[in-house]
Amino acid sequence: MPTIGVLALQGDVREHRAALEAAGARTIALRRDHELDAVDGIVIPGGESTTMSRLLRVFDLLEPLRARLKAGLPAYGSCAGMILLATEVLDTRGDAEHLDALDITVRRNAFGRQVDSFETDLDMTGIDDGPVRAVFIRAPWVEKAGTAVEVLATVPEGPAAGRIVAVRQGNVLATSFHPEVTGDLRVHRLFVDAVRSHIQLGR
Ligand code: GLN
Repeated sequence: MPTIGVLALQGDVREHRAALEAAGARTIALRRDHELDAVDGIVIPGGESTTMSRLLRVFDLLEPLRARLKAGLPAYGSCAGMILLATEVLDTRGDAEHLDALDITVRRNAFGRQVDSFETDLDMTGIDDGPVRAVFIRAPWVEKAGTAVEVLATVPEGPAAGRIVAVRQGNVLATSFHPEVTGDLRVHRLFVDAVRSHIQLGR
């Protein structure tokens, strides 16, 4: 069974751990750099990306995590987690750090005040048995994706129709929305399966 660390500095850690465990993984709440050696993958939860970025520095995790991601550690980020995995972030604080694991430009709080938080059903590549219920909470969208990045889902309708909200680059997955709060385990299963294949390939 793969072991997945959920970055536990801030955000909805408990919901991700529950979803990952239901999807067949062992989980740990990850706060220290040495714990990175014990995990086969990492999840960066939803929360507040600038706060998490500051805490990554305080906990001396920023560089070790960046290095592990660069070396190929599978990762999944939801919402604030997507922001942290990006190479470029728009509408953020000047001193906010990110992890450069996904070749995307992300815009924070992109949906604006009118539709601050909303839900919709969307089709997602990799999940074939029906649409995913996507819950957006002050969510980012992907403004630009590099050529190595696969777009997995876009907003189907409304003022933000066509905006990119789920992506994958190798073993790094990110969604603007929060599958951890819906009880639908399919996105977490997609990630757990990717972690499992990564382990098998490495052997
Ligand atoms: N708006 C938050 C940020 O910029 C993300 C919101 C979320 O994770 N639900 O970090």
